[in-house]
Amino acid sequence: MTLVPWAKDSLPNCLWLCWQVSSEEYFDVFATSKYLDEIETGLGGDRTDFPDNWLLTGKLSDFEAIPEAARSGLLEHLVTVGAYDIIFPEEFAMALAMYPEAPGRWLVQPWLDTGSVIDPAIAERGLRDVVGKALDGRGNVATRAKALLFRQMVKAGRVSFSDKVMTDELMEAFRKYPRDADDEQKARVESHVRAAFLAMESMSDGELEWPARFWRANWNLYACQLSKTEPAPEVLDGRSDEARDSLRELREMVEALWTGFAEAAKTTDPDLYSPHRFEVLTGLVGRALRLVRTIAGYPLMWTMEHGAPVLRALVESRIIIRYLVAHDDPELYEKFRAYGVGHLKLLKLHMEDFIDAAGEAGDGMKNYLKLISAYVNRDQYEEFVSIDVGGNFAGIDMRRMADETDLGDDYRLLFQPASSNVHGEWGAIDMNVFETCLNPLHRDHRVLADSDRTIVGPIFLYDLVDYARTLTEEYFTAVGANHPTGGSHGAEQA
Ligand SMILES: [Zn+2]
Repeated sequence: MTLVPWAKDSLPNCLWLCWQVSSEEYFDVFATSKYLDEIETGLGGDRTDFPDNWLLTGKLSDFEAIPEAARSGLLEHLVTVGAYDIIFPEEFAMALAMYPEAPGRWLVQPWLDTGSVIDPAIAERGLRDVVGKALDGRGNVATRAKALLFRQMVKAGRVSFSDKVMTDELMEAFRKYPRDADDEQKARVESHVRAAFLAMESMSDGELEWPARFWRANWNLYACQLSKTEPAPEVLDGRSDEARDSLRELREMVEALWTGFAEAAKTTDPDLYSPHRFEVLTGLVGRALRLVRTIAGYPLMWTMEHGAPVLRALVESRIIIRYLVAHDDPELYEKFRAYGVGHLKLLKLHMEDFIDAAGEAGDGMKNYLKLISAYVNRDQYEEFVSIDVGGNFAGIDMRRMADETDLGDDYRLLFQPASSNVHGEWGAIDMNVFETCLNPLHRDHRVLADSDRTIVGPIFLYDLVDYARTLTEEYFTAVGANHPTGGSHGAEQA
């Protein structure tokens, strides 16, 4: 058994059934069962040249399998009894005629023979309505199309059920469906039908080419439809007056934050005998605030999509600072520094290898190598710098570090989603890069979103600034700096 996805692989073949029940009136389900009976009558009892086990299901592929010789007799019968244009209405004919290789296309030939011109606009209007309603395999249209198919199977004795499954009550519900059944009975029948359809489809033999042809053809036949909804009022486009006011206000907040931090960083005693602790803590916060300062000037970056690296850096800095402060171990600060210098040394070695292999280096390359060398050798000769290619300076991963410092929620709710964005995971790509095409004939495919439509709001930056403020407070406490704003000195110690 293989699972057959309804919209992708079954719907195109059940198009006629879906079309007939697309009004979502139960009467049409009943009417369609009578149409099927009329078609049966028109075909007569002779099954010469029909495929083995052929059954009239209402599927296009089963119509297609009706041999040439029997086709004209059926069409004549339907015309004679005055049912042809009800069973195969003109709009359906237009829609199916758009696909020269559609199975069962001969059914609409009488329309084409009358000189009906295929109007793509009419075809699309009808088809969109039907397919749009039928896409959801559990929806009314899909379910009732399946019910009709199920009826044909049962009527032909192709399915049977044990007494345990088909209880007297269920049997009663099936007998009354759809016209005389009450709501509960209808619901029972339909849930049963959906399950049965799934099993029947997954056992049906051979893949059809039609579903793939149908969906692929729709790209050329019908245009994409993109959302025209404007962003909600609280969302800014980055150019409005509100955006400019927010920008000014936020910049002032960020500048005040920076000034307070810079003041503390420049006046607090760094302990010149052993300055690593002070330098590491100041460096971590300084880096985070520099990022916030920059992003504050670019409203288009105030989204998770573009601001994720900054958010991630802020949370990371806070976790590391708390971890370092909580452990209160001078060696840890040294490790943090050495871990980074080790990577710089590795870069230096790679560059030297690269230059050796090339046999020469331009001035730019030489200058860059000189710069890197200076930083590698800044605190100790590089011979004493070891290279650690593990994932983290402390030998434990960020998640554990976060849990240990009571920042587990920050890790899961801020750091992780920001990381998904930074790494370009599918969830982040899906949310930001695409919008969904609204033409049901394109089956919810993704269309590249126009960057002008990026939704920008100040909320993201407010959150960043808030976070940066908390980070700065923790810094003041850690380095014993005078708290410029009074506030919660010492209160947030981990
Ligand atoms: Zn589209």
